[in-house]
Amino acid sequence: MTSRLLAPFDLLTPQSVSEGVQMLAQYQSQVAILNGGTALWNHHRKLKHQPPYILTLSALKELDYIDYIPGEGLRIGAKAKICDLIENPVVAARFPALYEAAYWFGNPQIRFMATAMGNILRASPSADCSCAILALGGQVVLQSQSGQRIVDIDDFWLSYDVTARRCDELATEIRIPETGSTTCSSFQRLTRVRQDLAKINVAVRLEMSQGVCRQARIAMGCVGPTTKRLTGVEQLLVGNPVTDELLQQLATAVKSEITPIDDQRSTAAYRTQVSGVILRRVIERALSANMNCDSRERS
Ligand SMILES: Cc1cc2nc3c(=O)[nH]c(=O)nc-3n(C[C@H](O)[C@H](O)[C@H](O)COP(=O)(O)OP(=O)(O)OC[C@H]3O[C@@H](n4cnc5c(N)ncnc54)[C@H](O)[C@@H]3O)c2cc1C
Repeated sequence: MTSRLLAPFDLLTPQSVSEGVQMLAQYQSQVAILNGGTALWNHHRKLKHQPPYILTLSALKELDYIDYIPGEGLRIGAKAKICDLIENPVVAARFPALYEAAYWFGNPQIRFMATAMGNILRASPSADCSCAILALGGQVVLQSQSGQRIVDIDDFWLSYDVTARRCDELATEIRIPETGSTTCSSFQRLTRVRQDLAKINVAVRLEMSQGVCRQARIAMGCVGPTTKRLTGVEQLLVGNPVTDELLQQLATAVKSEITPIDDQRSTAAYRTQVSGVILRRVIERALSANMNCDSRERS
């Protein structure tokens, strides 16, 4: 198979996950995995040494699901599309950060093809669903011939474009832990135009009780080589009521946790300047619009 943009490659079309992992075991680093294809081709054609095999997931219908298991959480199959996340009522109701990331993602055509798994595996710091999933606290399930391996999302991105996935592993599922009546979450991003990749994005998951933040996970993208947790900011938040004064303190603190760069979408100076503003907004939105955590806790 040839293309004007790409070096010739052979297309592998496994009919099951077990056949897929068998092919990965056989071809190892010689094969690239094709899911929705909205990131792969663009990235692939820039590589000096393009893998001679492309393994498409197109026939693996078994990975096309979004399941909610009460008490456990959300299970997103590797082939579930961004548009499926938007249409799923449980995602909107219980995982608003992920719903909002999917809602603001690309354009209708891209949302129809792109997957949340591809977003994570692309390992780009601007990835929107990745940002939401890091805040929500997820896991990635990896399948190889030697069995299943589950990697925490906190340990998944090793550096820009590098993940913990081994070349003989197929990523099959994203798991997001259950949210409770005291959980609230939200996602926000800034872009040049509506359909662009983010200049900066941020997501939070908060556990609130009687106006006090009991647990916090905060993720920010486009401020380092990978999407990152803002653990210093999280520590300032936990154990305290979310007052105006605290939000101001967080907005200042975030600047010392990030290392943004200049690129085609923004500058390091701008990203640093707005990091506190967008952080404050996402926390306020999580607390108010999303869930009304305290009132749900009372009811
Ligand atoms: C016009 C346009 C707009 C975009 N807008 C946005 C946006 O708003 N926000 C955003 O975050 N991104 C955006 N993107 C980037 C892209 O759409 C996302 O990263 C998307 O989620 C990738 O998913 P995919 O299924 O298309 O992955 P693919 O392109 O198929 O694959 C991406 C990477 O993941 C690997 N991979 C995929 N699935 C698996 C698997 N199951 N196991 C192992 N490896 C796997 C592939 O090998 C590849 O390295 C945009 C892209 C375009 C072209």
